Amino acid sequence: MTRLSEKTAIIGVGLIGASLARALREADPSAAIVGYDQSADVGARAVACGAVDSAARTLEEAVRGADLIVLSTPVGAMAAALAEIAATADDGALIIDVGSVKGAVVEAAARLASRAHIVPCHPVAGTEQSGPEAGFAALFRDRWSILTPLARNDDAYLAAVKRAAGLWRALGANVEIMDHQHHDLALAITSHLPHLIAFTLVGAADDLQSVAEAEIVKYSAGGFRDFTRIAASDPVMWRDVFINNKTAVLEVLGRFTEELALLQRAIRWGDAETLEKTFARGRALRRAIVAAGQEKDVANFGRDEKT
Ligand code: NAP
Repeated sequence: MTRLSEKTAIIGVGLIGASLARALREADPSAAIVGYDQSADVGARAVACGAVDSAARTLEEAVRGADLIVLSTPVGAMAAALAEIAATADDGALIIDVGSVKGAVVEAAARLASRAHIVPCHPVAGTEQSGPEAGFAALFRDRWSILTPLARNDDAYLAAVKRAAGLWRALGANVEIMDHQHHDLALAITSHLPHLIAFTLVGAADDLQSVAEAEIVKYSAGGFRDFTRIAASDPVMWRDVFINNKTAVLEVLGRFTEELALLQRAIRWGDAETLEKTFARGRALRRAIVAAGQEKDVANFGRDEKT
């Protein structure tokens, strides 16, 4: 058993915070895990469902004495929370966040002077659910966790980055280190744009009342329901992602609309070759994702029924 921390404070005990708490406990059962959430009710629920050992009444109470602090609030709340944590944290404590956007967190962290070490992280793992009850220990297993360290190369900080990487590996994740600009562009295409498309599609279907709501639900297995899973994701989390990753999202959205216009034109002119060529790229990419172990090689996402 690896000792990962003496006391861990989880700030924001929703899906990711509770999953991290469970995964940490599984890897190191002796660590004390304290949760703090802006809503006392959520904190109490995190204790009741066994995700954390206790709930602190204030952020300061949670952070004091902790050698590991995990910030798992929506991205929009992170700058203010980081400032408070950095001012309260013990000397040498490791502070990691799990935000889906890294530029905003890196910029906020770089402005702070602290005796603790902030290592921005993003576990590329999640579900469409929220809240402490949705958390589970295996969430990070065989998934990537991307670290975007601050521009510091003193020994103490490099040791903190190494500790953060080791922590994720102990939870079963693979670790990659990159700069925050690269992260935000890569995730804009692999995560943020797909969510935007799903939100748009589901919104458009909802507006098409004339198609009759019954048909939308009844025939949803035709592909629509796979988008509804993504579109069911937490609205506050995603609001903050788009507000904080504006530049990269607008860049990939521009490329996407150009591609869409090409397909629109191909459909209009009956350009079968362009359509087939474009669709074949989709199949090849899916195979590459399966080959990389990021998806299982089962039809229809492994659902039992034949649809
Ligand atoms: P979640 O289930 O909604 O949990 C977030 C929790 O943080 C909520 O309980 C929220 O309380 C609380 N909170 C908000 N502001 C706070 C503050 N200032 N202080 C303390 N607690 C606060 O969301 P999540 O899915 O775990 O996402 C958390 C973070 O992980 C986000 O930054 C997201 O970008 C990142 N992430 C998410 C996924 C995913 O798939 N879900 C994947 C990777 C990374 P209220 O409910 O009262 O607002």
